[in-house]
Amino acid sequence: LAELIAQVQPLIGRKKYHLFAADARVLAQDLVSPLQVPPQDNSSMDGYAVRCADLAAGLALPVSQRIAAGACGSALAASSVARIFTGAPIPDGADAVVPQEDCTLQDDGQVRSPARCRWVPGSGAVARTSPRVVLFSRKGRVLRLPSWAWRPALVPVSCRWRRPRVALFSTGDELVMPGDVAPHDMPPGAIYNSNRFFLRALLQRLGCEVSDLGIVPDQREATVAALQAAAQEHDLILTSGGVSVGEEDHIKPAVQALGHLDLWQIAIKPGKPFAYGRVGAAHFMGLPGNPVSSFVTFLLLVRPFLLRLQGVTRWAAPSVTAQATFSWPKADKRREFLRARRNADGSLALFPNQSSGVLTSVVWGDGLVDNPPGQTIQPGDTVRFVALAELLS
Ligand code: AMP
Ligand code: MG
Repeated sequence: LAELIAQVQPLIGRKKYHLFAADARVLAQDLVSPLQVPPQDNSSMDGYAVRCADLAAGLALPVSQRIAAGACGSALAASSVARIFTGAPIPDGADAVVPQEDCTLQDDGQVRSPARCRWVPGSGAVARTSPRVVLFSRKGRVLRLPSWAWRPALVPVSCRWRRPRVALFSTGDELVMPGDVAPHDMPPGAIYNSNRFFLRALLQRLGCEVSDLGIVPDQREATVAALQAAAQEHDLILTSGGVSVGEEDHIKPAVQALGHLDLWQIAIKPGKPFAYGRVGAAHFMGLPGNPVSSFVTFLLLVRPFLLRLQGVTRWAAPSVTAQATFSWPKADKRREFLRARRNADGSLALFPNQSSGVLTSVVWGDGLVDNPPGQTIQPGDTVRFVALAELLS
């Protein structure tokens, strides 16, 4: 991952966008509040604004004014209370709001309230400007709901890096598209292309503009032609399949013919055949064809790469420790990412079939057990777990 990240020159095209188009983009500058939010202390409840000292005698007090949200009251007259509603500015002179449930409105229009009250100064204010500067989000962070949903009140526009342009294609003579061929018409040896769907969706989720080049047959010339086309006007070429060691795997030699391969095969399971290189000015990433391998390598390697490409400075998905309720008796020399899910008590259950061809494991599972090389697991062992939700956001 460090080697991949080192290859990235973040895209530096900056553009101003309206906040309606801001979701999932990356901030090119710190987002600083230009004003105090809310502009003044306001009431967090319906009740009566009072001076605490006036209540000490335990007498009923007249209501000298009524302040609703959006209105602006006047200074609170001595020995009186102000009727006040949620969101209304607290009048000068008042030092507490007593909730209406604790007060009695008498027939003579006066209000009796508890003799004691407590004021929490500035409790309604979440942001104050001068002399302090409030940072709402830092340069290099992805804007995500709900964090920016209330910012339109503060900053009408923000600057972000441009979206990465990604060319995507799947390889494999066996692949057919659902919709093109009905299940009962599937020719022998054919399988549905599943990678295309989730890879495209994952790319879009990460804010990429995707050129979907479809399915490329298992032939050298066709692969070279597809890579050549994809290298034009794209920041990244992302492929699935055809990157292993078989004679029908044409991706690797085709990339080497047109550009160079910098990295091939990594010690993880699933995902060993992963490849990285360059074709012209475009980065190239080759994912294995097995759907789980494709999915996992995308989340572990392509996702951080694409985030960094957009100027994001923090991409690590947090992992937690959890207790295994399963056994994994056979150690592997590669680092494994096992599909698991959390039980109600926080312990982890393992999907019974860990084959990289069984995409059901990531549908059933809600995360990956990050198992170091050479490690077996017994029920009760503590393992590291990364939630898929962390990798998909
Ligand atoms: P490959 O990496 O091309 O050797 O493919 C490995 C396995 O994944 C083979 O069984 C392929 O049929 C399968 N496979 C490759 N691409 C896809 C795809 N797009 N969707 C589903 N399965 C695939
Ligand atoms: Mg293949």
